[in-house]
Amino acid sequence: MYLPDEIEKYLLALLPALGVNKLRELSRLVYEICKRENAAPQAVVPAQKNLTFEGVKKQLLARRYPVNFKTAQKNRFYLPKLDLDPALRADLTVRPFYPKTVYIEKSVADSELSDRARAAFPKANFKETDGKTQVGSPNFSKRLETLFIHREKYDFLKPCPCSCAAAGCGYNLINLGFGCRFECEYCFLQQYQNLHAVLLPANVEEFLAKIDGASFNKGPFDRPRIGSGEFTDSLVFDDVTRYSQKIVPFFRARPHLQFEFKTKSVNIGGLLQAGGCENVVVSWSVNSAKITDYAEHFTPQLSARLAAACQVARAGYRLGFHFDPVVIYDGYQPDYARTVQEMADTLPNDKVAWISVGTLRFSRELKKMVENRFPDNTILDGEFLLDFDGKMRYGDGQRVEAYRFLVPLLRKAFPKAHVYLCMEDPQITRGFLL
Ligand code: SF4
Repeated sequence: MYLPDEIEKYLLALLPALGVNKLRELSRLVYEICKRENAAPQAVVPAQKNLTFEGVKKQLLARRYPVNFKTAQKNRFYLPKLDLDPALRADLTVRPFYPKTVYIEKSVADSELSDRARAAFPKANFKETDGKTQVGSPNFSKRLETLFIHREKYDFLKPCPCSCAAAGCGYNLINLGFGCRFECEYCFLQQYQNLHAVLLPANVEEFLAKIDGASFNKGPFDRPRIGSGEFTDSLVFDDVTRYSQKIVPFFRARPHLQFEFKTKSVNIGGLLQAGGCENVVVSWSVNSAKITDYAEHFTPQLSARLAAACQVARAGYRLGFHFDPVVIYDGYQPDYARTVQEMADTLPNDKVAWISVGTLRFSRELKKMVENRFPDNTILDGEFLLDFDGKMRYGDGQRVEAYRFLVPLLRKAFPKAHVYLCMEDPQITRGFLL
């Protein structure tokens, strides 16, 4: 991999009069092309007479964005400064989740969750806190060293924020926790989480009590949907929290609603103990093997996720799946088709309630975080453009092509499931409504 300094030095040798902004744009383009093509800067911009900034930039844009260069407006190419700090690289050594310090807010010191944490992590350093003291590490990669058990006071139940100007689906959220022990390269928590610890609320009953007083929009579904898993994986800590033991009976008594656990884990012991429930949907995020194996670090493989899905279906739960994020790379379609086939061959078809599809998207800040934490990633090699909501997405044509390929395949394999697009431009979503 070529470092920004080396690239800048080379470009300044070719074009000594480059100002700061022009150097930034060309360095960014050369860096991304070198990384994707495993090429040297000298091969990307060969030394020759009469080079100009405009000529080099045009040639680099055409090479970096071969699909979109001719059609996309030029202000949609995002060329920020290369800001790489090796200290931010993610630690990918396999380790169990075992926090060094567990902070427990005084008001929940006697809670069931606090007792469970004391039993699960006897060697951790337990500290009581008033809840006002800042806990956690300044480094996101060290977030698993601290567990903070607290009483949630404000953020109980809310409509899914979706994405500004995207087509919503009427989803509602309860945030049972913050932080995750998996390391998905595209995870927005890397950029979003500012308290670098795992936070788990001890007052789940208060979250559930809010649901009884609320009114919901069911959107295009048969019943309103409420889920957890916005700021954490819904089940990744369930062996410690056993939230499932409280959530499942609550919804069993309220069949007019449905609850969704969203996970990549196979941590289903609590669900199996709680017994099945028709209006509880256990959803797995699924992807092509290339993405699950190389971009979703520490997560179970697709086959393990599907085996867990079969187990919970046999116990009486319904299933959901999220093809999210779909990553577009050379040969992605046969890879995703293989995933759909594996699902069709494995899963009880009539138990699949819904499947969402969404292509990879991210904020500008997250892009910087991903390239720092995972400098060898391939997920950023695609052609991302600034989009309608300020996020970066593949161009409309590439997204529509991905949906035209995947949505009919899923509808054919799972005819009873509701297949829908997630966080998409309403104009694109309209073309895929049933
Ligand atoms: S499983 Fe979800 S919450 Fe956990 S790292 Fe992956 S994307 Fe983030």
